[in-house]
Amino acid sequence: MNIILLGPPGAGKGTQAQRLEQARGMVQLSTGDMLRHAVAAGTPIGLKAKAVMDAGELVSDAIVSALIGERLDGSAGNGAIFDGFPRTQHQAEALDLLLADRGRKLDYVIELQVDEEALVDRITGRFSCAKCGVGYHDKFKLPRVEGTCDACGAHEFKRRPDDNETTVRTRMAEYRAKTAPILPYYEERGLVRRIDGMASVEEVARQIDAVLDGEGAQQPGEGRSLQL
Ligand code: AMP
Repeated sequence: MNIILLGPPGAGKGTQAQRLEQARGMVQLSTGDMLRHAVAAGTPIGLKAKAVMDAGELVSDAIVSALIGERLDGSAGNGAIFDGFPRTQHQAEALDLLLADRGRKLDYVIELQVDEEALVDRITGRFSCAKCGVGYHDKFKLPRVEGTCDACGAHEFKRRPDDNETTVRTRMAEYRAKTAPILPYYEERGLVRRIDGMASVEEVARQIDAVLDGEGAQQPGEGRSLQL
């Protein structure tokens, strides 16, 4: 199964993708993570992408589509969770080609619907373990023992440089202008399932499971009687 998690920054895509990896053996393909690794490693792509990411703008379609292409084969077993990709119509079309070339297809596009104002709070408080990457939050999810990662016991944590309010506002504007408009492309194919991303992490997970297990909510418009 191959799915896209779609939603503005802070909607919970990464959290849910990590859970799906563990629960279903799927592979999270996050272009944001790939780009952050490239920046940290100082690769040519990283050097190009850093300023764009710090500003909250979008990296070029060619770069991110190439990154996904390189990693797609590693997710062939139980499928891929696309997290933060595609973000433009061009990327959506590139993904279709990349999948078709491998005899694969998209099963669902899961849109996490959220209230943008609440997201600023969510994003500016988040941090993660520097060693294993597990996510935490200043208000909503502190480590059980202060300064120690629950998952791996490490003592170092990190915050993303683009998780500040100014950059978050730009990232949201980019989402509204370039990413939300790709939804109709998938709606036409009946792939979109909408989920309340403001619910608890557990409830969002339950709703995603229901979709993947074929018990998902109706598509808007489904079940309506035909007007002849
Ligand atoms: P994310 O971790 O998904 O929030 O991405 C962090 C930043 O990486 C974004 O604000 C963009 O600058 C860049 N980025 C990640 N994925 C993409 C993508 N699919 N297309 C363009 N830029 C991206």
